[in-house]
Amino acid sequence: MMRYISTRGGGEPLTFKQTVLAGLARDGGLYLPENIPQVADRLEAWRGLDYPGLAFEVIRQFADDIAPDDLRRVVEKSYAVFDTPEVTPVRQVGPVHILELFHGPTLAFKDVALQFLGNLFELVLGETGSEMNIVAATSGDTGSAAIYGVRGREGIQIFVMHPHGRVSPVQERQMTTVLDSNVFNLAVDGTFDDCQNIVKELFGDLPFRDACKLGAVNSINWARVLAQVVYYFYAAFRVQEQTGAEKVRFTVPTGNFGDIFAGYVALKMGAPIERLVLATNENDILSRYFNTGVYSLGKVVPTLSPSMDIQVASNFERYLYFLAGRDSAKVAAWMAAFKRDGSLTPGIPPDACFAAGRGDSAATISAIREFWTRYHYLLDPHTAVGVSVALDRLNESSAPMVCLSTAHPAKFSAAIREATGEDLARHPRIDALMSLPTRMEVIAADRAKVAEFVKSKLA
Ligand SMILES: *Cc1c(COP(=O)(O)O)cnc(C)c1O
Repeated sequence: MMRYISTRGGGEPLTFKQTVLAGLARDGGLYLPENIPQVADRLEAWRGLDYPGLAFEVIRQFADDIAPDDLRRVVEKSYAVFDTPEVTPVRQVGPVHILELFHGPTLAFKDVALQFLGNLFELVLGETGSEMNIVAATSGDTGSAAIYGVRGREGIQIFVMHPHGRVSPVQERQMTTVLDSNVFNLAVDGTFDDCQNIVKELFGDLPFRDACKLGAVNSINWARVLAQVVYYFYAAFRVQEQTGAEKVRFTVPTGNFGDIFAGYVALKMGAPIERLVLATNENDILSRYFNTGVYSLGKVVPTLSPSMDIQVASNFERYLYFLAGRDSAKVAAWMAAFKRDGSLTPGIPPDACFAAGRGDSAATISAIREFWTRYHYLLDPHTAVGVSVALDRLNESSAPMVCLSTAHPAKFSAAIREATGEDLARHPRIDALMSLPTRMEVIAADRAKVAEFVKSKLA
């Protein structure tokens, strides 16, 4: 049986199902599997599978307390709602391969994990007849993907906090036009950090957390990372077929280190990956870390790629655990230093598989413009940050470069207009939002007020 442990070493090991329901470990750490399964001898058998078939095989390695038939059903249901049977198609565009992760219901890559997580919650809660109340904070994309993952489901309610008036109109409407009775949108009079702090405080209040059966959908939840491991295998196989290459490289536009950490897990399992290139925008704590060895807090600045406007990357702690040679006491000490000083220096060089770079707003605009004029392909601004960093590094190796495309450009049409001078990024689902009715509650940035609201809605 696969067991999951906290990066900070506290508590008893959990099974996969328990880990998914727990979200964050009670000692404040994040859950990781005790061992990473080695699958190098299965790659040839996996290569011919379609996306749901591959997802089943990869996830099964980590979710061994779920009956195989149940897991297969959950996976098939999750990926049937994508608008292409390939789920995450890969297209060659100029010198790179674009892995399109935006074919789910909310047009951002977070659907790949949150559709799966919603179905998984329903399965696990259904087995015991229990309930869950999800409390989440969003700066934009997580909220709608999580809401679409759990809307209308039995035994689950979701409370999503967004900073009132500070998400884009499209992002706000994607959340607030969902009128299912289990969905509550809280427009918090404050910043995203206020929302995130309230979530952390509610989870840190263990009596409240237990009484309200709180659940987490942010990428602190292991199942989210796990679902993302799949497309690294899928894309590597597709690009190997097209190019005959032995290994591929990936460039990953990064905020919370969740997506690229999934790539690191795939590499450790034996996926044919030569290099993981991390790309940040001006909020570059992670690219600075990989280039200087110091992880130190900067000030968040707004950019054209708002879903990456993050300084404290919660999943980085999962990487630190491996960097520390699985020494959880060391991780706990590093995290304590970071909390105290806003900075931590592991003093151990990062894995050689990582490279990192920064694409600022000018680079973002120029990548969008170049890919549109040369190849007639529209990059969303997050994808463009990655592409600009990838282009700088193309000549370092002959391995094909796969750039993760994390959103449909229509979600961020203002950046497209700025880059091309035209209103090129449209999607019928986005256009339709503007005429739909909405529902949300405006609430003070006050943990007690939010707790009271959640309590008042409990069945
Ligand atoms: C969330 C998000 C990212 C960053 O992903 P992380 O897992 O936080 O690194 C990048 N692009 C888009 C469009 C996103 O929504």
